[in-house]
Amino acid sequence: TRYVFQFEEGNGQDRKRLGGKGAGLAEMSRIGLPVPPGFTITTEACNQYQAEGRVPDGLMAEVWDHLARLESKLRSKLGDPDRPLLVSVRSGAPISMPGMMDTVLNLGLNPETTEGLGRQTGNRRFALDSYRRFIQMFGNVVMHMEHSEFEHILEDVKASSHITLDTELTESNLETVIARYKDLVEKRTGRAFPDNPKEQLEMAILAVFDSWRNPRAIVYRRLNKIPDDLGTAVNVQSMVFGNMGDTSATGVLFTRNPNTGEPGMYGEYLTNAQGEDVVAGIRTPKSIDQMAEEMPKTYQELVEVCRLLETHYHDMQDIEFTVQQETLYVLQTRSGKRTARAAVKIAVDMAEEGVVTKEEAIRRQDPAQVQRLLYRQIDPEAAVDLLAQGLPASPGAASGKVVFTADEAEARGQAGEAVILVRPETTPDDIHGIVAAQGVLTSRGGMTSHAAIVARGMGKPAVTGCEAVKISLQDETFQVDGRVIAKDTVVTIDGGTGRVMLGQVPTVEPELSEEFTKLLNWADKVRRLRVHANADTPEDAAKAREFGATGVGLCRTEHMFMGQDRLPVVQAMILAETLEERETALKELLPMQEGDFYGILKAMDGYPVTIRLLDPPLHEFLPDIQDTEAALRRAQEADNSREVERLEAVLRRARSLFEFNPMLGFRGVRLGIVYPEIYAMQARAIFQAQAALLKEGLHPEVEVMIPLVGIPAELSRMKDLVAEVNQAVADEAHVALPYKIGTMIEVPRAALVAGEIAEHAEFFSFGTNDLTQTTFGYSRDDAESKFLPTYLADKILKENPFMVLDRDGVGRLIQIAVQDGRTTRSELKVGICGEHGGDPASIAFCHQVGLNYVSCSPFRVPVARLAAAQAAL
Ligand code: ADP
Ligand code: MG
Ligand code: MG
Repeated sequence: TRYVFQFEEGNGQDRKRLGGKGAGLAEMSRIGLPVPPGFTITTEACNQYQAEGRVPDGLMAEVWDHLARLESKLRSKLGDPDRPLLVSVRSGAPISMPGMMDTVLNLGLNPETTEGLGRQTGNRRFALDSYRRFIQMFGNVVMHMEHSEFEHILEDVKASSHITLDTELTESNLETVIARYKDLVEKRTGRAFPDNPKEQLEMAILAVFDSWRNPRAIVYRRLNKIPDDLGTAVNVQSMVFGNMGDTSATGVLFTRNPNTGEPGMYGEYLTNAQGEDVVAGIRTPKSIDQMAEEMPKTYQELVEVCRLLETHYHDMQDIEFTVQQETLYVLQTRSGKRTARAAVKIAVDMAEEGVVTKEEAIRRQDPAQVQRLLYRQIDPEAAVDLLAQGLPASPGAASGKVVFTADEAEARGQAGEAVILVRPETTPDDIHGIVAAQGVLTSRGGMTSHAAIVARGMGKPAVTGCEAVKISLQDETFQVDGRVIAKDTVVTIDGGTGRVMLGQVPTVEPELSEEFTKLLNWADKVRRLRVHANADTPEDAAKAREFGATGVGLCRTEHMFMGQDRLPVVQAMILAETLEERETALKELLPMQEGDFYGILKAMDGYPVTIRLLDPPLHEFLPDIQDTEAALRRAQEADNSREVERLEAVLRRARSLFEFNPMLGFRGVRLGIVYPEIYAMQARAIFQAQAALLKEGLHPEVEVMIPLVGIPAELSRMKDLVAEVNQAVADEAHVALPYKIGTMIEVPRAALVAGEIAEHAEFFSFGTNDLTQTTFGYSRDDAESKFLPTYLADKILKENPFMVLDRDGVGRLIQIAVQDGRTTRSELKVGICGEHGGDPASIAFCHQVGLNYVSCSPFRVPVARLAAAQAAL
């Protein structure tokens, strides 16, 4: 096998072998963009090296061969003091892992070539600056020394010469820095810094291979579900220099705004700087707009490069570039990471510009990312105590207690606390803290700083470059305008505007943007599944409708029993010793329930509303046994005989209703069988509401759903009961009250006898929360707190089955039930109302097995519409 390809020889589609960066360099070289020449060592070489623990046979020979080709192309030579070739050695995995692995710049410098470079360019200071950068990067990446140790020396030299900027270092300052760097290397590693450029190159290549396994790369891959066996390619590329004075620069930019999606370049640059300076957040860079004035010619060239890249790749790109004495070079391109909002806008804009099709625009959305569009925003009406204003680096609002280290953010975040990670800047080593924090605030760094990029990728709010915030890591405080904010103080950040506010600021529900609405309308034309919402209140139903739901798939009635005014009546109903007593209490509940149903049916007028009759065990409505016992003792001490009597009755009932396993206990249809008067009251409330709405000229579509059926006779009995009530109400109101009756399928037996159940049911709704519990024999809360984490970590289960539908087990039952149910009743309507109804992977399954609709919480409706369309494409 061949391990090495010159850029222009490589296949730009072959990201797997060339890595993303190498493929991009190959493609750009081919379409004639100004790319400094070089070659790529494939991921296969890396994998071979990792597997065998040694350099693959023939690899270095191939490298020297390609180096010779590069040298003759550029008429220079690695290690030649008169015409020194300098290269960068750059990692590049098949899937982009920004900043996770290592790169070495300016390789090939030693005392002789440094002087040679100085003579050649007539700029000795620049040559020395490059050399000290090289020692620092090589020392860090290849010789595993602490970056900060080099920084200390640099700071020390600057301080003793009374200068603040790197660019102010003189030649003799730099000579001092270089000498001290080299001493440090020798002291720490026990060997001299290598002067032989070929030795440098070989060491750097192997170090890049090794960086595939560095801890932060491993964490990043785990987080982003990137396989560990891809390996990284290595790009060896001739250097160009952004640090050759004020007509030189280095920068990064997006071809469109990655936060909002607005067209036009969006990025930052630094003059007289090299590589990492921009992303490192050390100097705060200038906005790319400023380049239009400072370097107008280069700016125009960049505009053209962006246009070419977008039309070539059909997507927004994120590029890295360097300007060497007014000549532009493109060093990297990749599809740009973007916020959910930008992803939608860019796809819709590009579809309208004719660059991509509408289907492509739909297919491109990541439903999990789009879900973030529905994140909460700062309430515009809220009074805020504004502390400072930084850069709006990653949108969304977040509140939490201030912490100053990634480790603390991780520990406390994982323990369930809301924390905001506050750092001068972040580095890839902070990533575990960012994951666990609600949001990130940095005092330095721009919109493309590490913190900003990582936060955007994760959908975490971030404010960066907030220079008014003066952080003292030692005291664990920050100061802003003379106010001191201590650790643990609650702050709120708004990554959409860059505001940093004191305290917990109220937030509001978001609205759909124009582009998002457009995209969803395209999606609606493509999808076959209907999307309903789970809604228990008229407000939820209205919200769901606004988000495009065309029905309520699950209206739970138990929450309606919990209200303050209702609970006493519900309790009286439960405590009733006789049927009459119970019916008295139910009569009192009737008008309340009728009002609830009236509101929901009205909010969803014209669309089906599936109302589930009472489901939870009755003891859930009674006070806690131990609390009642304590209250009883107090009443006895106070000699309050009426209260004693009442509490004794409550206790008796609570004890008699006590269950060892409520999940499998006296609930669902079992309640209806034992206390038919409860279901009869609920049915009456539903039909009376329906009658009232019909008389108003509205179009209520009622579906009555019986929960937890496992035996056909359960349903047939309840069906008769509901029919009887329906007839009675219709007679009283002198109006026909059409409705559908159906059941939830949420125990395995129901799925297995679905053919018979369908004789009594006009619809099925898969209650996949319970169906998952009963199929696995797990109680969800116990599973999630006790053993599921181990199961997931050990890969005994691939996904949490309560979040992603288990196709093999639960899904199999669903398939059986759909098939047998439809065999009995071909027009049987089938849907899903568990939490899976909002999960994109589960929605795809629902599409495949031919369900009619999915029902999910109102906030997941837009994403469900999108996921349903993606499933159909
Ligand atoms: P990362 O994957 O971390 O972005 P890169 O390999 O892209 O690492 O290198 C980081 C930066 O180093 C680049 O953005 C660029 O500014 C600089 N760089 C890399 N190679 C060269 C080169 N051949 N000439 C000039 N600068 C380079
Ligand atoms: Mg890069
Ligand atoms: Mg259930």
